[in-house]
Amino acid sequence: MTDTLFSKIIRREIPATIVYEDEDILGFKDIAPQAPVHVLFIPKHAPIPTLDDATAEQAPLLGRLLLAAAEYARREGLAQDGYRVVMNCREHAGQTVFHIHLHLLAGAPLGHFGTP
Ligand code: 5GP
Repeated sequence: MTDTLFSKIIRREIPATIVYEDEDILGFKDIAPQAPVHVLFIPKHAPIPTLDDATAEQAPLLGRLLLAAAEYARREGLAQDGYRVVMNCREHAGQTVFHIHLHLLAGAPLGHFGTP
């Protein structure tokens, strides 16, 4: 994986509002939120551009991305009302940053999903 915008956030070279961190995962607020709560969860050490590039060996890390989002949602009192997690893969999904990331969207009813 070449250096990405998100690698710079991991290294604190560009500012971000970091709201979650553990050994493997960083969570920070999206700069252009699509919901009242919009947080991105990224792996800190694994060079994975897209979900299509992930390997079976990386399954635990992908699981930890999901569990980090769930833990954050619980901690912030978002779990009861619910939330959405989304991972965009390449062009048709509108992926713009090629450092694998999970979107957590919450804080209001999110409407139907998947309409082009
Ligand atoms: P994608 O479209 O690749 O699934 O999601 C990339 C996300 O990164 C977008 O929602 C976009 O708003 C967010 N983003 C792009 N640049 C920055 C930045 O410099 N800081 C933060 N916090 N988010 C960013």
